Amino acid sequence: MQKMKLKCITCGKEYSAKEIRYNCDCGDLLEVIIDFSLFNRTSEEWKQYFDNRKDKFAFLRYKDFLLPDLPEDKIITLGEGDTPLYQANEKVQDYFGVKDLWFKHEGMSPPTLSFKDRGMVAGVSWANYLGIKKVACASTGDTSAAMSAYAANSKTIEAIVLLPEGKISFEQLAQAISYNATTIGLKTDFDGCMKLVKDLTAKHKIYLLNSMNSIRIEGQKAIGIEVVQKLKWDVPDWFIIPVGNAGNISALGKGLRELFDLGIITKIPRIAGVETEAAPPLYKSFINNWAELKPIKAKKTIASAIQIGNPVSFKKAVRELKYFNGVMEQVSETELMDAKTIVDASGISVCPNSGTALAGLKKLVKKGTIKPNEKVVVIITAHGAKFSKSIQEYHENKENKFANQPKIINANLNSIEKIIGEKK
Ligand SMILES: *Cc1c(COP(=O)(O)O)cnc(C)c1O
Ligand SMILES: [Zn+2]
Repeated sequence: MQKMKLKCITCGKEYSAKEIRYNCDCGDLLEVIIDFSLFNRTSEEWKQYFDNRKDKFAFLRYKDFLLPDLPEDKIITLGEGDTPLYQANEKVQDYFGVKDLWFKHEGMSPPTLSFKDRGMVAGVSWANYLGIKKVACASTGDTSAAMSAYAANSKTIEAIVLLPEGKISFEQLAQAISYNATTIGLKTDFDGCMKLVKDLTAKHKIYLLNSMNSIRIEGQKAIGIEVVQKLKWDVPDWFIIPVGNAGNISALGKGLRELFDLGIITKIPRIAGVETEAAPPLYKSFINNWAELKPIKAKKTIASAIQIGNPVSFKKAVRELKYFNGVMEQVSETELMDAKTIVDASGISVCPNSGTALAGLKKLVKKGTIKPNEKVVVIITAHGAKFSKSIQEYHENKENKFANQPKIINANLNSIEKIIGEKK
């Protein structure tokens, strides 16, 4: 008995989950609908079920909730997920103005150091189940890294990645290359790559693994459920998340909504999405009463993973944001790098894209939207180590508030003692 199907988010037309398709005949996005009633579990039984499976890796633990129709022996896992939920230290709490502050650090996902692993364990495993031989994506760097790793591990699937030339970090590019993906740099931006990968996968037998693939997105629901399970099925007041193509915020919302519908959680949190001033299409919609998407030309930003002006999952994201009484915020380059650097300095290395979410938190607390006593979970989307150039550039510039300059001195004990204040 099939538990999953694809359904259009606008006209409601349904398709088999095994059909390779990303859009409805009407042109709109599809989503996975799971018939949870077929499990015949009460909310208590669901919780028990997940709690009893703590020794299994995350994707398998939650498989009934993510991709129930995927046979277990088709899973291609690299040990993704089970990422830490860090509590912010006092200095960090003070900077952001909230005490009960937590970081769900998806950059600590072992295979490729970003949350994209969560989507690719689902997407590449599904491709493996369908017997697909080639997968492709457009990427701002992390999608391509994750897709390449999982495809390489499958041994039978070839990865093709389209990247905006010169617009992703060196570390991200190194990942795709080292996992032996066919790596193509295009002289355009992400939105340009996205258009071409759609054309490519429509024309040839190649499986598209961008976030408009609704099977992939199901895997990312694991982030939210992992947070609430860790909190003993309690729910924070807020989730804060950076937004690029808007797939992750859609997945977070969908997962939490389903948990609520199943009675596994009994409170609806609020969600805040954050973009940079260089690429704020969802923010613009929000301040205009959730107006229709007006695609914009994304400007250059240090938060290169979210330099996207035409987010594919716009409609899904708006639907979730409305359901969760959500808000959008936008932040400047200085704000996001200062916020990132403060958290880095607490021993938790985060990427500039996550810095965007962090800076958004600070602004929303200042505006009074988020109250100082509320429980806040920020989704950290990638590890700082994938964006070392942003760290170097920030700390090199004395003007930056929290710059930590290396001190270059002559090689003698006396000079070292002077610097560390041990010279009497
Ligand atoms: C992909 C990515 C995002 C944006 O996620 P979307 O699903 O595209 O909104 C944010 N941060 C990092 C590090 C990413 O790799
Ligand atoms: Zn439709």
